[in-house]
Amino acid sequence: MIGRLVQAAKGALLLDFVGATGLAVKYMFKPKKTINYPFEKGPISPRFRGEHALRRYPNGEERCIACKLCEAICPAQAITIEAEPREDGSRRTTRYDIDMVKCIYCGLCQEACPVDAIVEGPNFEFATDTREELYYDKSKLLANGDRWEREIARALELDAPYR
Ligand code: SF4
Ligand code: SF4
Repeated sequence: MIGRLVQAAKGALLLDFVGATGLAVKYMFKPKKTINYPFEKGPISPRFRGEHALRRYPNGEERCIACKLCEAICPAQAITIEAEPREDGSRRTTRYDIDMVKCIYCGLCQEACPVDAIVEGPNFEFATDTREELYYDKSKLLANGDRWEREIARALELDAPYR
């Protein structure tokens, strides 16, 4: 009786082994489902809502006209803007802060902006060690815009037919 049970167990183990080996061989030749992050990155949608950036025009002038629509619409009250007129009469921000800890990445600031100045860019790798580093000021946001302008412009162009 015990001998038969041992034989049955051995048979089941052998079947399991053959099945597992078959599966391993089958998936060995299929495309990989995983990527070697962070050295490889997956594709992201043009509508991806990542780290914020303030954009400039090609001549270097800031796009933002300090209308404060983004500040007004932000449901998390994460944006703080102060502004004053320049000597030439144009209006520009003197302060533009986003508290990235408060932000819920809803994208409403970008939707509200009449000049595509504030955008959520493609960068998702901006984790920090301290909360203070996530309090973005105008220079940080403009630097983000300068860094990611090509990708941001491309994403806006791809998304334009659907807006
Ligand atoms: S993405 Fe939403 S929550 Fe974040 S700053 Fe813009 S409007 Fe506010
Ligand atoms: S980023 Fe856009 S919506 Fe916000 S103040 Fe500037 S122009 Fe107005």
